[in-house]
Amino acid sequence: MSRIAYVNGRYLPHANAAVSIEDRGFQFADAVYEVCEIRDGEVIDPGLHLDRLERSLRELRIRMPMSRTALLVVMRQTAKRNRVRNGGVYVQVSRGEAHRDHAFPDASVPPTVVMTAKPHDRAKAEAQAEKGIAVITVPDNRWERVDIKSVGLLPNCLAKQAAKEAGAKEAWFVDGTGLVTEGSSTNAWIVTRDGALVTRSAEFGILRGITRTVLLEVAKRLGLRVEERSFTVAEAKAAKEAFITAATTLVMPVVSIDGTAIGNGHPGETALALRRAFHGSTERVPL
Ligand code: PMP
Repeated sequence: MSRIAYVNGRYLPHANAAVSIEDRGFQFADAVYEVCEIRDGEVIDPGLHLDRLERSLRELRIRMPMSRTALLVVMRQTAKRNRVRNGGVYVQVSRGEAHRDHAFPDASVPPTVVMTAKPHDRAKAEAQAEKGIAVITVPDNRWERVDIKSVGLLPNCLAKQAAKEAGAKEAWFVDGTGLVTEGSSTNAWIVTRDGALVTRSAEFGILRGITRTVLLEVAKRLGLRVEERSFTVAEAKAAKEAFITAATTLVMPVVSIDGTAIGNGHPGETALALRRAFHGSTERVPL
């Protein structure tokens, strides 16, 4: 079965799906995106993802390409047409197609909308969570507006490639003062020796992950002590547990940082409990 993409009003086989070479997403990374989990034939937390998409667009002064309701219809259709029952749906919106000029084109230029869907292997993900992952740390060399979910992901790609070359699955960015900001495509968490769940405040330096937001609710429901504050690499290495979160990885235990084993070198109990409890606090919309 060929994969189907939605491009500006049409559902097309990937081989025929394309945007213009003058699209500003291609020319300038002048575009934003969202990724929603699809689980057991339902979209997970579409409302929160659409809120963040609207915010990213507003911050960049790109107009909403269609209503939230219409966006959700296309997201569900794209997943359905690709027979994705477990995986992710990707939404990209660029400022549209215009002759190359750094300044914005005329307000009449319509945004470009692309959606794709990709299945993922649940069993493989669960096996990975039982093993945990290794992370490395890299200097955070991104711009300040990482709160916007922009497709300008070059530092993130370089960081992920560095992780891959080091035999790790994720790279944690570290700011100029030695504090961990977030992963290249995930938020970073630790559990301290005395049992506090710690993740950086989303006020500055990170993307406010939807999985992060929902997990903070889950943690409260489970009666965990939560501290939204920054932590250093040294504190993370000395922690009882560490893990990452994202819509695609969910809660994924971290068992080593730069080669240093975390806790007993195995996935932590808190991380695994949060992974199991996560979907109890999500909004779910059938495809
Ligand atoms: N930080 C970055 C840099 C990301 O790319 C992502 C994944 N989109 C996240 C955090 C996690 O966000 P979410 O939980 O919404 O997937």
